[in-house]
Amino acid sequence: MSKNTTLQQIQSAIQSGDLTCVELVNTYLAQIQKTSDLNAYVEVFEEEAIAKAKALDTKYKNDPTSVGKLFGMVVSIKDVLCYKDHQVTGASKILEDFTSLYSATAIERIVNEDAIIIGRVNCDQFGMGSTNENSVYGVTKNGIDPTKVPGGSSGGSAVSVQMDTCLVSLGTDTGGSVRQPAGFCGVIGLKPTYGRISRYGLLAYASSFDQIGIISKSVENIATILEVMAGADEFDSTVSSKLVPNYIQELDFDTNKKVKIAYFDTALNHPSIDPEIKDQTTQLIEKIKGEGHTVEAVPFEYLDYIIPAYYVLTTAEASSNLSRYDGIRYGHRSKAATNLEETYKMSRTEGFSTEVKRRIMLGTFVLSAGYYDAYYGKAQKVRRLIQDRTNEILNDYDFILMPVAPTTAWDLGQSLEDPVAMYLADIFTVQANMTGMPAIALPIGTHSSGLPIGVQLMNKHFGESELLSISKYLINLLK
Ligand code: GLN
Repeated sequence: MSKNTTLQQIQSAIQSGDLTCVELVNTYLAQIQKTSDLNAYVEVFEEEAIAKAKALDTKYKNDPTSVGKLFGMVVSIKDVLCYKDHQVTGASKILEDFTSLYSATAIERIVNEDAIIIGRVNCDQFGMGSTNENSVYGVTKNGIDPTKVPGGSSGGSAVSVQMDTCLVSLGTDTGGSVRQPAGFCGVIGLKPTYGRISRYGLLAYASSFDQIGIISKSVENIATILEVMAGADEFDSTVSSKLVPNYIQELDFDTNKKVKIAYFDTALNHPSIDPEIKDQTTQLIEKIKGEGHTVEAVPFEYLDYIIPAYYVLTTAEASSNLSRYDGIRYGHRSKAATNLEETYKMSRTEGFSTEVKRRIMLGTFVLSAGYYDAYYGKAQKVRRLIQDRTNEILNDYDFILMPVAPTTAWDLGQSLEDPVAMYLADIFTVQANMTGMPAIALPIGTHSSGLPIGVQLMNKHFGESELLSISKYLINLLK
């Protein structure tokens, strides 16, 4: 599929009669089959995708103007997004055999524009993790080196794009779960502004952080699908009613324009950073400067507070959000329980993974009487300081540039030994979620180990257009 990496190319191929939707879907299905040992998909909607492709081919033949904006776009979806009459489990036993009663707004909007959903992809349980190892379906492996993790939590999404089994994947990003796996897999990942895309129909992890994100190999595809999904929704009161721009039309970077980019010395010189990541990021900075743009180091004194505050706040929200899984209303119910209390206790004990339980307990603790002010209240204050300082920087600069992660993809099993080390590795991605700002991860090069290295750009709230156009510009610059 590599010759057809943008939706535009696919649509032209269909238009000129070189390709049909059925052929397209069959090519992706064959690729899913070929790469099945990587375990990216937990369910493939094979028959349904072919049937929809057939129907679309007929619709197009009868009237080419009748097809939707996403005609020819084949999409995989993370197993936390509700798609009516399809299973959704959050990669957890607690939701085994659960079927969605309705579609997430984002899913409904892309289906209405004739996107074809090809399958449900693996992830860390309820989005909690950075390696995709915390899944009831087992780990997804990185297609570049199957001894490595793909990153997480949207690991299946990143690998499904990396291996050309679909054009675009929808993931979710609470603390980096779209950008970090994109970085580990050498593809592009956008986390839009908090509230840009409705969260209705997304299994909640931490509601004031969660956002649907997009992974693809081309910025154009991200722009196209973002425009379809974004915008007001009566089912999510936190979604913005701000006008949705025409992202594709705004994609071309004005080469006469000079931008100002900030970066943090404390990030580039962080003790956890791999020297090659630092070198390649520094080289990129020099290259951008060479084009006449300004790239400057600015102080950011809160870097080391980001992770502790994030893990206090997100676990607190998770402990509340996950209380709905009680074994009574839906999902897994323990067969061994003999009374109500046992039903709650045993269903949750059997249904949640160790990592999810760790977070529920931590969250319950930080919210409990006597500890609330010291942990939850304090972390909220830290969040505000981080937001204020980031706003201040973005008043003076157009973008903030950072590595995506301090290292390349880890060995399988490595993070399971030390969850705190895994938490700390989210250091560069979490700022965008703490502040609600949009951020994008782009591949910039390869490590001597052969693994991809990514860079991240962050912008002001609702600055997706600028973020996408500078990304396109930087990708061309790196060619
Ligand atoms: N790794 C982070 C966590 O475990 C981010 C997860 C996410 O963005 N869903 O919380």
